[in-house]
Amino acid sequence: MIHFIGAGPGGADLITVRGARLLGEADCIIYAGSLVNPELLNYKKPGCEIYDSASMTLEEVIAVMTENERAGRITARLHTGDPSLYGAIREQMDELDRLGFEYDVTPGVSSFSGAAAALQAEYTLPDVSQSVIITRMAGRTPVPEGEALCKMASHGCTMVLFLSTGLLESVERELLAGGAYTEDTPAAIVYKATWPDERVLRCTVGTLAETARKNGVKKTALITIGGFLGDKYERSQLYHPDFTHEYREGRKS
Ligand code: SAH
Repeated sequence: MIHFIGAGPGGADLITVRGARLLGEADCIIYAGSLVNPELLNYKKPGCEIYDSASMTLEEVIAVMTENERAGRITARLHTGDPSLYGAIREQMDELDRLGFEYDVTPGVSSFSGAAAALQAEYTLPDVSQSVIITRMAGRTPVPEGEALCKMASHGCTMVLFLSTGLLESVERELLAGGAYTEDTPAAIVYKATWPDERVLRCTVGTLAETARKNGVKKTALITIGGFLGDKYERSQLYHPDFTHEYREGRKS
């Protein structure tokens, strides 16, 4: 059996209860050492084998899994945040399907949730934005033409950029080219959200690159953009005294 497990964004106690239990049952843990907090390995049982996938290829990862399967051992494949985002799990699952090995997936807390917590912010504010675009700037990994950052930026909604901290000059240019954000639109760089050395750098779209440069932030950060970082919003209908819904009768006006 192979378990794909979301490790959470960094803080070692932000893995799910299920994820921690499965780590404790595994005979072998393959973890993404570049971003997964090594403290999570404390959940392992004695004798558990550990591999850091940072220096491994897909083929090498599958070879370790195959060896474990043939020996009747349990493998835990630990991915940072939630494995469904930029996790490269599909290619592993397709190989496992081909080989006829069983696997399951345990979700994790993504770093975009960790970043909102660090910012003490809500991405979806009434009258400000009701959508979150999660995307990245095209770099060495291309992005499909229809998802070019300037096109995504034309909506003006809340945006969270993964894997883009090294490209902030281009990010600024593309965000402004979208036409919906201005140089003054609030933005924030969240470095290592939920880790002990977490840093929150509040800035604006026009100062993203400069803020990262001044603070020496080059990677392991998310870029968040939008009015949700500002002061103006409408209160929710859900908790308004005049609003009636399934669970509560609104005040008669
Ligand atoms: N599956 C992961 C994302 C993996 S891609 C998730 O759900 O979070 C790796 C990118 O995620 C990094 O380049 C960075 O942009 C972001 N990232 C991962 N952990 C982070 C953290 N704790 N704080 C800020 N950004 C993080």
